[in-house]
Amino acid sequence: MGKVYIKTFGCQMNEYDSQRILSVFNNYGFSKSETPQNADFAILNTCSVREKPHHKVVSEIGRLKKIKNRNPSFKIGICGCVAQQEGEKFLKHYPYVDFVIGTEAVSRLENILDLVLSGEKVSDIEIKDENLSIDTFTRHAGTSAFLTIMKGCNNYCSYCIVPYVRGREISRKSNEIINEAKYLVHSGVKEITLLGQNVNSYGKNLDENINFPKLLYMINKIEGLQRLRFVTSHPKDFSDDLLSAMKDIDSICEYLHLPLQSGADNILKKMNRKYTYESYKEKILKTKEQIPGIAVSSDFIVGFPGETEADFEKSLSALREIEYESVFAFKYSPRPGTTAAEFEDSIPEEEKNRRLNKLLNVQSEITSKLLEQYIGKVCEVLVEGKSKMDVDIYSGRNRQNRIINFNSNVSLNPGDIVNVKVTEAKKNSLFGTNINEFTLITNNRRQ
Ligand code: SF4
Repeated sequence: MGKVYIKTFGCQMNEYDSQRILSVFNNYGFSKSETPQNADFAILNTCSVREKPHHKVVSEIGRLKKIKNRNPSFKIGICGCVAQQEGEKFLKHYPYVDFVIGTEAVSRLENILDLVLSGEKVSDIEIKDENLSIDTFTRHAGTSAFLTIMKGCNNYCSYCIVPYVRGREISRKSNEIINEAKYLVHSGVKEITLLGQNVNSYGKNLDENINFPKLLYMINKIEGLQRLRFVTSHPKDFSDDLLSAMKDIDSICEYLHLPLQSGADNILKKMNRKYTYESYKEKILKTKEQIPGIAVSSDFIVGFPGETEADFEKSLSALREIEYESVFAFKYSPRPGTTAAEFEDSIPEEEKNRRLNKLLNVQSEITSKLLEQYIGKVCEVLVEGKSKMDVDIYSGRNRQNRIINFNSNVSLNPGDIVNVKVTEAKKNSLFGTNINEFTLITNNRRQ
């Protein structure tokens, strides 16, 4: 039996695709290897959304080349967004790479493997943009799992490469999604995170009478599903119907990731985000009012072309005003082929670093303040297992997606749901005590 090593860069969509890739290899009799040295195949599932992960892929390929020099039968495959962009050029630049497949070609991997195993080099980056059909695939699902409901994006934010490497926005039929969700729940999954670049526009290309809120109601009916999450929502498409569904559906967790990117309207306009800070703020405040205790997170880009100090200050004000529980912030880096790559990248690297550090420091104070507020409260925790730092301590996440490590007098298993009283707030996590004498399979909002 052969072995395959898969390294995943970037977003949850890539993680999901890596599980699909592993499943195809499993069907061929390959098992998973934790290191490339012991493997017969190495797959890099790549990300090109920023410059840094792109560079990491290139250096990783260099490491794999050394293994191939020692073992010429070792095969190297490049998948994902960098593969989509580079295609056949990759095979020319790196002749020791055996195949390059784009984001949509994962569904054709079986045929590609046949060719690669017979010694051919393959490049397949075709995007058909017709429909999105993914057969439910076997996987070792733990307590939580990702489920792709759509792919691609039609928004063309000026800095973003996704519409070029993932294609147009296409939704999966609801019956396929429900079947996969049922499979996951029957395999023991308690929490499902629905994935799409812009889940709010789910269903637009389908013949069915469906939209994202309707899909959420359908998935919620699956018996045994305890928690439902979704990423990512675009602020311009975040609707009242979706907010009502979030309020009504018990399994939907009190967590919303709604990327703002900048607090300055002129920068939002240059980013082609199609909303203003005020309209964004209104939606968030309404959400916080209607779903008490919800944790909100966001993405920010600092140093976008033309961002002045005053524009940057508006992003800091937005952090303070919205009070996000967590934020993912990045320095702007031009992505070749996007509209913003034509703008003058006017902010020096040093200044981008200063702004990033400043923003992260401001956010760190806000996160500390919000985490302190959990002390004394009881959180519903989905147990993931033992803490990595201490085997006597359990670890899991609350409904707000925050890690909670805790003591327990009773023995617990991954997938158990317990009530934990928070006693301490750490920098990015919470600590507490299991207050149930026995394992609880319940849901705080249903109590
Ligand atoms: S909404 Fe904008 S940032 Fe998000 S994937 Fe689409 S183009 Fe990229």
